[in-house]
Amino acid sequence: MHHTGLDRSALDAFNLDAGLTLEQADHMIENVAGLYALPVGIAQHFIVNGREVLVPMVIEEPSVVAGASYMAKLARATGGFVASTDAPEMIGQIQILDITDLPAARQRLLNHKTELLQEAAQFDPVLISRGGGPRDLEVRLIEESPIGPFLVLHLIYDVRDAMGANAVNTALERLSPRVEAISGGRVHLRILSNLADRRLARAATTIQLDQLAFGQFSAEEVRDGIIEAWAFAAADPYRATTHNKGIMNGVDAVVLATGNDWRAIEAGAHAYAAHSGRYTSLSTWGKDAAGNLTGRLEMPLAVGIIGGATRVHPGAQAALKLMGVTTAAELAEIIVSVGLAQNLAALRALATEGIQRGHMALHARQIAIAAGAIGDQIDQVADRMVQEQNIRVERAQEILLQLEKKN
Ligand code: NAD
Repeated sequence: MHHTGLDRSALDAFNLDAGLTLEQADHMIENVAGLYALPVGIAQHFIVNGREVLVPMVIEEPSVVAGASYMAKLARATGGFVASTDAPEMIGQIQILDITDLPAARQRLLNHKTELLQEAAQFDPVLISRGGGPRDLEVRLIEESPIGPFLVLHLIYDVRDAMGANAVNTALERLSPRVEAISGGRVHLRILSNLADRRLARAATTIQLDQLAFGQFSAEEVRDGIIEAWAFAAADPYRATTHNKGIMNGVDAVVLATGNDWRAIEAGAHAYAAHSGRYTSLSTWGKDAAGNLTGRLEMPLAVGIIGGATRVHPGAQAALKLMGVTTAAELAEIIVSVGLAQNLAALRALATEGIQRGHMALHARQIAIAAGAIGDQIDQVADRMVQEQNIRVERAQEILLQLEKKN
């Protein structure tokens, strides 16, 4: 932790040993054989909606935490990140089969909309008391499928501070008998959709032009290089996939740190990236009238601070405490900001010196350790190899021998 330069007391909320016990793990999943640890890094310099926040990131990949922190630092001159979220409305799906007159059944369900919504409001008094619950009901006609046409009912359900999968799935299962009775069909699947496109989170930032110059690169070169790199992702799915993967480096790390379901977030993000019919970049980069770099990220973010592993995992609890978030919306606003910062870190590196240089130092340290370096030797060996641009285990061993001879 020493190299973050953070005041130790700032980290008191985050007990770095706070992990899961075998006993807790045994209640989480089946056939538990052990625990699996990952590094927790703390991203610094973030200001989200005017508030300073330290962001815990759980990730195995080098350079992510440093990249996000550095971009957050560049964003400070203009106040950091402005983020917002839609209402936490999830979509639950009910598949209805064996109907002969689909339009008529659809109309019958719509005629009973108020009654169905009232019934759905009975299932989760706790959620209702927090201001959540059913909001709307839609019925879609799937015209073509491998088994022919059928109906799909969408229950729009406000899940407040939960991710919502359990809440929605429970509501769907309990609503199904009425849906069968009204439609005259057979209810088959009843399950949440991870395409949470009514629950979008957005972040925007402006990087002052003068913050962008570095090394031999002028500020204009860096800015325009970033915009050119983004344009590639906007136009080409092969590039967009990797571009969005970079965004998810930041997003997933915070999602994981808070015990949230990162597969759900991944599934929703990539499906949303294709919502125009063509897979594209989740972010947008451009310049404002003053020539500053502007960035925006919009994506579904179904994260919770209640339920799932967020409540069970002590590390997740510590992560939420460190960030000082009290609502799921606040958490989503931080996550989407980290995603945007991470995206910028990757674009800036790619558009200038390339990605490998930044990775080099950490890579060199790993090679030094593999060669048997310990303590101070690690940095000494790594620095030499980076200088020589010769990062190999054999070279590390030679340098180690020389160091040992000297001492
Ligand atoms: P949950 O059911 O454990 O918690 C939600 C419940 O907490 C609500 O129904 C409500 O009764 C109560 N609650 C109390 N205070 C609340 C508040 N302020 N806001 C909202 N609810 C409040 O959790 P969940 O979020 O419904 O389910 C999440 C879990 O479901 C995750 O672990 C996920 O992995 C899993 N899951 C996901 C999928 C999927 O993504 N397709 C499918 C099934 C299960």
